Amino acid sequence: MVNQPSDDVVSAPIRRCWLCGTCGLRRIKESTLRGDPTSRNFEISNADYGTTAAIDQCVRCGFCQCTDMVDVLKFYEDLEDPAYEMTRPQRARQKRVLLNRLPRPTAGANRLLDVGAGTGILVEEAIACGYDAIGVEPSRRFCARAKHHGLPVVQGVLPHPDLTGPYDVVTLVDVVEHVPDPLDLITRAARLLADGGVLVVVTPDRSSLLARIMGDQWWHYRVAHIGYFDPETLRFALAKAGLQQTEFHRPTWYFPLGYLVERVHRYLPRWARFKVPARLSDLVIPVHLRDSMMVCATKAQTRDTAP
Ligand SMILES: [Zn+2]
Repeated sequence: MVNQPSDDVVSAPIRRCWLCGTCGLRRIKESTLRGDPTSRNFEISNADYGTTAAIDQCVRCGFCQCTDMVDVLKFYEDLEDPAYEMTRPQRARQKRVLLNRLPRPTAGANRLLDVGAGTGILVEEAIACGYDAIGVEPSRRFCARAKHHGLPVVQGVLPHPDLTGPYDVVTLVDVVEHVPDPLDLITRAARLLADGGVLVVVTPDRSSLLARIMGDQWWHYRVAHIGYFDPETLRFALAKAGLQQTEFHRPTWYFPLGYLVERVHRYLPRWARFKVPARLSDLVIPVHLRDSMMVCATKAQTRDTAP
């Protein structure tokens, strides 16, 4: 009798955990993608919740990843997302709250790099806070939009020849879940830190109560999200990059009521949907879902081992 490998364990050499490199991956969610993905699937404001490529979980460290979705940069380079820009004031408020959690910038420690800068919303708020800020962003259209606002956002990804650092703050806000090698990105970001510099990572938490309640319909399950962290795997990734976590927060989001209701409608039957009066549509609503993490980290004294 021949021993057959288990159907749900994948051990081919090229299918490795993006964090710990282990070959043992267990399929936990089948693909719900219809057809080949396009740039539209990768829009920040995309509300096709629950739709993802197949997700595998590492049997060693627990990280979850869309192992087959490695060639995604081209989608970000072509990205345009008018709905994202329409929520600029509310997103700016969220960035302000995030920046307020950091030590106040001083004359000798105010260099900030925002990675995955979009249209420069965080860069704009950082400059207003007193930072000497710059962003890097793969989308050509987002960069053009940032330029339109007079903001320094260079086109591309790390490593970038114009971004040699060092920086006192490097931010990765809703970025690490979008890339096929998050450890490499975090490591490159860490290398750009000045002595005493802070890396800020914001990413969804797949172990959060809301994620567990909503299951496959969790709003962070979307095509663009190809890596799924929890507090342990994020801490592990930071440690592997030579960083030590110093702070953990649950970020608050701010959305216009109209935008928010439109998204909630995705979960409601047609009869239960309602229209927001125009005069209330722009009302800013703080959303505390506690299903996202904001982590600060600095260079560690000693390097870490597996969790
Ligand atoms: Zn792993």
